[in-house]
Amino acid sequence: MASLNLVDINKVFPNGFVAVKDVNFQIEDKEFIVLVGPSGCGKSTVLRMIAGLEEITSGELYIDDELVNDVSPKDRDIAMVFQNYALYPHMSIFDNMAYGLKLRKMPKEEIKKSVENAASILGLQDLLDRKPKQLSGGQRQRVALGRAIVRDPKVFLMDEPLSNLDAKLRVQTRAELSKLHLRLATTFIYVTHDQTEAMTMGTRIVVLKDGLVQQIADPTTLYKDPINQFVAGFIGSPQMNFIEAGLSDSNGKVSVDFKGGRVELKPEMVTSLKNNDRLGEKDVILGIRPEHLDVTRADGEEDNVATVEVTELLGSETYLFLDLNGNTIIARVDPTLNIQVHDRVKVLFQVENVHLFDRETEAALFYEAK
Ligand code: ATP
Repeated sequence: MASLNLVDINKVFPNGFVAVKDVNFQIEDKEFIVLVGPSGCGKSTVLRMIAGLEEITSGELYIDDELVNDVSPKDRDIAMVFQNYALYPHMSIFDNMAYGLKLRKMPKEEIKKSVENAASILGLQDLLDRKPKQLSGGQRQRVALGRAIVRDPKVFLMDEPLSNLDAKLRVQTRAELSKLHLRLATTFIYVTHDQTEAMTMGTRIVVLKDGLVQQIADPTTLYKDPINQFVAGFIGSPQMNFIEAGLSDSNGKVSVDFKGGRVELKPEMVTSLKNNDRLGEKDVILGIRPEHLDVTRADGEEDNVATVEVTELLGSETYLFLDLNGNTIIARVDPTLNIQVHDRVKVLFQVENVHLFDRETEAALFYEAK
């Protein structure tokens, strides 16, 4: 169990590339923190600096209030699980899990107890005599976790540990990791580029882009109140729709106008714009998630009418790809609507779920710093 504090952490590689820029955040004891972002955003580098596998160029890293910048990896009481879990092929599962403890010269009886305990947590009790090649991918992944658990570390670091698993197994293992976190009651720091993994497992999520932290929040807040257009687009699948629009203010009624449609904002939204000093903003990006569009059949010529270009049936829901006057947007609808390609539909924007972004800075206009 441990808390961590990252203070102004930077990483400059020897070739001069700045991979991590002024990263600041605290991790409370027993949190499940997920670092998420697109390829190359610096998330693995942050994790490797926490592990001590990568030198910190500047800044301070504290574990339980102790400055550990110069503490060697083996003395940080941290266990790391990688994407490539590389088990020793000639050793049994028991020996794979016991290996690190043997190196530390732990007494045999204690090793046995520790491995058996980890195996029972992970449901591997009956597989301890097998060799890695006699296990499925998911089971091997669990052995890699077991190797970390036996060490009883203060912090678990995981770098895309599920990416070698097939889609179904990934969903199962995700749930297992969440259960494991509850059971071990230890700090987990997890790196992924997959926003679904971040949303389903993280108690808090750190979104990174180009080495910079964009937003740190719990999953619900990230989904509902993204700080900028990047976070809004990164979190959520299918992603949020973005439409170029303008704000107009006539007699206190503020509306968002775009080609072929408009949305009138609620008074409290106008107040929020005023509070944020954003009412004068003219060119904006309107953001709306696919699940916040209500689609009905269009009768006659009206505003907010779109043509259905593609339908994707997923069983429990249908995605409609719509052409709204040149803007392609996605709506997530009930399959019983039975809407077909080429149909003309009316698209109603659920106004309370509308997001606005500054076209230049991409900042969310309704976002109020907490
Ligand atoms: P991915 O999901 O692809 O693993 P990531 O977000 O984990 O990406 P990092 O591995 O942290 O990214 O790398 C961050 C950036 O630093 C990348 O642009 C990468 O090319 C660069 N980088 C990594 N290692 C070095 C190095 N040794 N020298 C120079 N640049 C490096």
